[in-house]
Parts: sequence; C-alpha cells; structure tokens
Amino acid sequence: MDAPSRPPRDNEVFISVGRKSTQWSRVDYGNNLCFGRYWFVRDSCGIVCCIFTWLLIAYAIFAVNVVIINSAIARAAIYFAWCNGILFNGLVLLAVVSHVRTVMSEPGIVQKNTATDERIRELELAPGTVIMRCPKCVCIKPERAHHCSICKRCVRKMDHHCPWVNNCVGENNQKYFVLFTLYIASLSLHAIILTIHQFVLCVDKEFAGCSAMNPPTSIILLIFLLFEGLLFFLFTTIMFCTQFCAIWNDETGIEQLQSSKERTWQRRKRFHGLRVVFGDQCSIWWLCPVVAPRFAGRDKPYQYSVVDTEEHAREPLRPEIT
Ligand SMILES: [Zn+2]
Ligand SMILES: [Zn+2]
Repeated sequence: MDAPSRPPRDNEVFISVGRKSTQWSRVDYGNNLCFGRYWFVRDSCGIVCCIFTWLLIAYAIFAVNVVIINSAIARAAIYFAWCNGILFNGLVLLAVVSHVRTVMSEPGIVQKNTATDERIRELELAPGTVIMRCPKCVCIKPERAHHCSICKRCVRKMDHHCPWVNNCVGENNQKYFVLFTLYIASLSLHAIILTIHQFVLCVDKEFAGCSAMNPPTSIILLIFLLFEGLLFFLFTTIMFCTQFCAIWNDETGIEQLQSSKERTWQRRKRFHGLRVVFGDQCSIWWLCPVVAPRFAGRDKPYQYSVVDTEEHAREPLRPEIT
C-alpha cells in the first residue's frame, strides 16, 4: 500500500479500497446538443459571434467574386479569373468546413457524475490513490482537463473557449480550429493581394469599366474588403501562431499560465506534439478539415490525476470511502 506523501487538499480525495478497473458509459452531452444529436453549445454570445463570422465571410465572397473576378472576366483576363477564383473560393470552402467542424465537434468533454460516492466506491481504486474531482460536473477530472463555465463541462486538454467558434478548443477539435485560423489567414492574404492589384489596375482609369458596378460602389466595396482582410489576417495569423506554438511545445493556453512545477505529465513536443493533434501519420490529410485525425492508440481519455490544480470551488469530498 502506497502511503500518501502529503495530506489531501480540499478538492482531493484518497481512496482506500482494492484495485479494480471500471467500465465507463457513453459521454453524456447534456444540453449542448443540436437536433438532439450534434454537439452545439447554447451560448447566445457565441452564436452571435458565429453568425457575424459567417456574414463577414459572405461579404468577402461577394466582394471578391462580384467586383474583382467579374472585372477580370470583363477585361478578358480569363486565366487570372479562373486561377484566383478557384483559389479564393477553395480557401473559403476549406475555412467554412473547418469552422463548422470546430463548432460542432465535441471538444473532449469529461463524463459527468463519475465522482459520486457510489461511483467512486465502484471504482475500487488502489489504496492511496488521489483523484481530482470537479465540483461543478461532479466528475473525476483527468489530468490536463479544465472546467469551462460556458460549456458547463470539463474539457480534456482545454486550450480556451473561443466565441468565434462557439466552442471550447480541446483535445478533439484542435485540428479543425488550427485549420480554420490557417485558411482564414490564407484567404484574407489572398483577398488583400487581389484588392491591391485591383486598385493598381483601375486607379488610372478612375475605375471606369473596372467592374459591373459603378466606380464609387466598387471603391467602397474594395476599401471595406481591404480593411476586413487586414483585420482578419492579423487576428487569425496571431491565433494560428499561438496554437502552433502551443502544439509544438505541448502546452495549452491555460497551462502556459501555470508554473512548470504544476506539470506532472510528460510533454510531447515538436513533431510528436503535431501528431497528437493532427494524427499519427504525417500526410496531406492533416490539412483536410473533413477527415478526422487518426490515432493508432490514443491515450485513454479517463485518467486519474494526482495533482491539485486549485482551480475550482472548494468542495471537500468525504475520504472515508470503504
Ligand atoms: Zn467540470
Ligand atoms: Zn467551453
């Protein structure tokens, strides 16, 4: 019997019973469901942010295709129109699919109500085992899991809750979120280049015959597109770099704020970190938001933590479980 090295803190419990593994039931999605089937967080702020994102993407599609691509077709620059039309709309499609996948992917939530006295008794854990419990979900909290107050669930390897995707970025959907930032940054850069090219091309002619619309409307649409492109490019490039560094260093946004002493797991850095998020085999599918990452032997999602994160409300458990 391993004696505990220190007394339990408020949200820890020592279980003094025999060893036994337990079967876990399917994860209960709770209220975060759409049509009773798909993961969708019912947060009004997140839903508004998502709609706003979609409207801005719709505007970019309209401005690029109607003002810039149409103008290229009108001046018989067919090759330019086709290449840029396919590239821009292809990036939009990839970004939209990545967005939908991030919004509607369960981020890696932890089963609720697994830390009731009865369930803990059923576990028959090894003597001296320390487990962490989230008092809000009443769940046994795996290592690196954190509680999200918007999703109202504990999420494994939670990075942060992003209102632009109305979801937590966690173990199960980080790939889609990274791809979303990558494709939005790429299409924004493409839109910026196209807009500047259009201005250079048309400014001498005072935009006469430059698009199907009248010159003032074209200029206003292009200025707004340039402004939107710059804003999105900066925002998503920063997000992409932050995410990439977090994956490369195997440290989530929350963990970066914690001291290294609190870290009890083995960090899997660099390419190993990328493989943990995007899948075992490095391939072109890493860039495809339709394909879910494939893992030959993913870590068991439910592990007992032995650290105190001091994150949640203090709700002492009764340690006298026999
Ligand atoms: Zn929780
Ligand atoms: Zn969340």
